[in-house]
Amino acid sequence: MSDETIFDKIIAREIPADIVYEDDRALAFRDINPTAPTHLLVIPKRRIATVNDVTPEDEADLGHLFVVAREIAEREGVAEDGYRLVVNCNAHGGQSVYHIHMHLIAGQALGWPPFPR
Ligand code: 5GP
Repeated sequence: MSDETIFDKIIAREIPADIVYEDDRALAFRDINPTAPTHLLVIPKRRIATVNDVTPEDEADLGHLFVVAREIAEREGVAEDGYRLVVNCNAHGGQSVYHIHMHLIAGQALGWPPFPR
């Protein structure tokens, strides 16, 4: 789980991605397999594998993801209608890439709860 992921390659521009935002701490790009009309991933450049690995030293980088999410939601024109921010953790959470990331999902009314009863 401490190994590099595909997201490190996106950060390094070793594989292409539709990047919509970048600064010194964060990157946001379109999900390759969107689940809604707008589906972006917001990631810290410094890799943290899962929420289980978060420490107090990560507060600034992770808090910054919300600032980026707010900014790109506005740019994408979905802020007023609304959107969902999701962070999956490990197998039961549905995490498939072990570089912590925030999904920004929008563009339609989203169902809740996100699992079958
Ligand atoms: P998770 O399932 O870990 O919460 O979310 C990982 C997300 O990364 C998935 O929604 C998946 O579609 C997306 N993803 C996986 N590989 C790539 C890739 O190479 N490029 C992009 N843009 N998205 C990816």
